Amino acid sequence: MSDLNTPSDIARETLKALAARKLTPTPENYSSVYRELSGVPASTTDTLESKPAQNWSGLVRDLLRQLETPHKGITITRKKDGLETVLARFASDPAVLFAKLQGLVRSWSSTPEAGSEFAPAVMPNEAATHPDKQAAVAAAASAATASGNELLQQLRELLAQSLENTLASHPELAEDIRRLVAQVRATNDANRISDLTKQLRQFWLKIELRGSDKVKVQEGLLRLLRLMVENVSELVSDDEWLQGQVAALQDIIAKPMDRHAIADAERNLRDTIIKQSTLKQSLNDAKTTLKKLMTTFIDRLGNLTESTGEYHKKIEGYSQRISKTDDLAQLGNILEDVMRDTRVIQASALRSHEELLTTKKQADEADARIKELEHELMQISELVREDQLTGALNRRGLDETIDRELKRADRNHSPLSVALLDIDNFKKLNDALGHQAGDRALTHLINVIKETLRPTDAVGRYGGEEFVIILPDTDLEAAIEAMQRLQRDLTKKFFLHNNERILVTFSAGVALRGENEDQEDLVGRADKAMYQAKQAGKNRVIAAENDLSSLIR
Ligand code: GH3
Ligand code: MG
Ligand code: MG
Repeated sequence: MSDLNTPSDIARETLKALAARKLTPTPENYSSVYRELSGVPASTTDTLESKPAQNWSGLVRDLLRQLETPHKGITITRKKDGLETVLARFASDPAVLFAKLQGLVRSWSSTPEAGSEFAPAVMPNEAATHPDKQAAVAAAASAATASGNELLQQLRELLAQSLENTLASHPELAEDIRRLVAQVRATNDANRISDLTKQLRQFWLKIELRGSDKVKVQEGLLRLLRLMVENVSELVSDDEWLQGQVAALQDIIAKPMDRHAIADAERNLRDTIIKQSTLKQSLNDAKTTLKKLMTTFIDRLGNLTESTGEYHKKIEGYSQRISKTDDLAQLGNILEDVMRDTRVIQASALRSHEELLTTKKQADEADARIKELEHELMQISELVREDQLTGALNRRGLDETIDRELKRADRNHSPLSVALLDIDNFKKLNDALGHQAGDRALTHLINVIKETLRPTDAVGRYGGEEFVIILPDTDLEAAIEAMQRLQRDLTKKFFLHNNERILVTFSAGVALRGENEDQEDLVGRADKAMYQAKQAGKNRVIAAENDLSSLIR
């Protein structure tokens, strides 16, 4: 019908026609316009209707977004080439085209983003370091840009129409939608696109959170609760091990509910449950082995000796004790008793005794394995006392640690200091480098803290970018020194973002525990001092005033 020769031309024209006729970019519309333009008879693509609906507007949105996002190692020219190729090869079948475009978006989005907000079509360094390539590269870039711009224009129009389509399902967002549509149509320079992309992202988030979110939060919580209840018996029955899981749930319920947090907790809990039940199984196996070994041990002892009746009675007693106990400490005691008694008959049955020693060695190994497993189990349950992002203690872990250290300080009459740190201008860092870089900066700080402080010190996440450091056996002067050392270390161990050195600084308040002072007062004083450090110009450490009430006694 027309003089469109290649599938790529037809696809391009189809997109244009959809935009011009203000048609929603559904697969049906796409395929009917494509057919119209290419002259393909209707029957060849009619099966489409029975297939699940494809979210073309979402795809176009993602495509546009990923096209604009600079990715490491993929220039925009390459992206456009990829897009052209896909359009050329698969344009005649919307279903395949949809899948291929999705694949393209996936491959771009799985590539790490490049550092600069807008990577030029040709990396300047690349051209500068290979001057001989400059001309060729520039020619290719300008050719691609011409068709690329046209394509972008069409995608932009489709995006505007897709947005208009959301009006029906979200009339309450009409104002937002109209404003965005106008902006999408008017935007054509890179800086404004960046701004627009941000706004679009927020808008989609708003839509996602709308309506369905409350239900999702509720569902998520219920699922989490069910998971807990169903697995309580699976978790090792010891209270200690269960507490961590319950604490994680309490943490979530205490905060404003967010389905992402719930999903995270669910994932962690599932992991923990799987690990715990596997370990529990191994632990039971190891205990059974140990019991079996000890029974063999006793049996042989009985066979080998022809000693007095009294001795047989003893052996009988041991057998009974072993069959009754499941407790490791007790099993250990029995083993000791038996070993002591075998020494009596050592002289008369040396060879057999050696056999027994081998069995004892095996029993010891099983015992060691059990201890190892128990330790591992403990550590897994510790995991839920940790903040998942930074590996610092979470609020619960922090509370427990401070509480334990306060008791220890009381017992030993030793000094205890705490410091409260708040990163300086963290909001700016997030704004400039992105939230993910912010997250990495937090982890970096925790790593430096852990490297710098003593192993007996502990660090916990008090809030978003606020951390508490617990310094046992440390007076005020030494605690201030430790914080200053940390400040110095941070000027040497830079946080690297895209190979750029970013200096992270913090303000800290340090408090020495007063007599009988509780956790809340102690951290409260450190917090106040931290605030003073902020007021005084940030990047400094200030000692907390002593609480007068604890001095007047
Ligand atoms: P100041 O020097 O006065 O402390 O300024 P600030 O910007 O650090 O302080 P403010 O408390 O106003 O901002 C803290 C910011 O930390 C706001 C929040 O977005 C960010 N933040 C909190 N938790 C996280 C997190 O887990 N990851 C990231 N990336 N940012 C976070
Ligand atoms: Mg803060
Ligand atoms: Mg801060």
